Amino acid sequence: MPRLPHQPHLVHTLRAPSPTDPWRVLLSGCMAGWGCGIDGSSYGMDQALGDLFTLQTLQALPFCPEQHGMGTPRTMPDLHGGDGFDVLAGRAHVLDEHGADLTGPMLAGARAMLAFARRHQVDLAILTDMSAACGSQVVSDGCRYDQPRGFRRGVGVATAVLLEAGIPVVSWRDFRTLGRLRARLDPGFVPDPQARDHHESDWYREQWGAEG
Ligand code: SF4
Repeated sequence: MPRLPHQPHLVHTLRAPSPTDPWRVLLSGCMAGWGCGIDGSSYGMDQALGDLFTLQTLQALPFCPEQHGMGTPRTMPDLHGGDGFDVLAGRAHVLDEHGADLTGPMLAGARAMLAFARRHQVDLAILTDMSAACGSQVVSDGCRYDQPRGFRRGVGVATAVLLEAGIPVVSWRDFRTLGRLRARLDPGFVPDPQARDHHESDWYREQWGAEG
């Protein structure tokens, strides 16, 4: 069983935010609209969180670990042999589609992201999924251009570094958790009772079954 950032009680553990002391949220740069994807786009992720960051009690702190480590544009990094924790343990590597080993710059970007998070004393991180750096529930198992594309439960390299340091991570696909967080920030907001986190989704359960 991989180590995943499921945190059903997270909403109750965070301090009370205010407009003068908002929750400081480390955010994948592409979700802030940065053109930091491998092709210089934001992958369309700038709309992923809707208007969440218009709330006065939430401060976005964007960072892109891949851009920091390798610049933009760049080749496509993917995990081979494990997830981000396995990279930290030396059991897995990050390779691009040509077979070049990107493990070193991916680790450098991840550590820079952690330093940024610590400098800004973030309360939590909201990250993308599937990325070899920011993946927060699922990552590619090998090169994503292979057919059929492989997936594995697990986290990216930057996510593993953040979790090791004790920073809570929420996937942008964790709709139930994000709804609960928003309800703490916005008293008028009623979370969707049908909303589910990524590991509770039909696609995830078809792949790996239900988790407790
Ligand atoms: S490394 Fe993270 S922030 Fe950068 S483009 Fe990929 S998912 Fe977005």
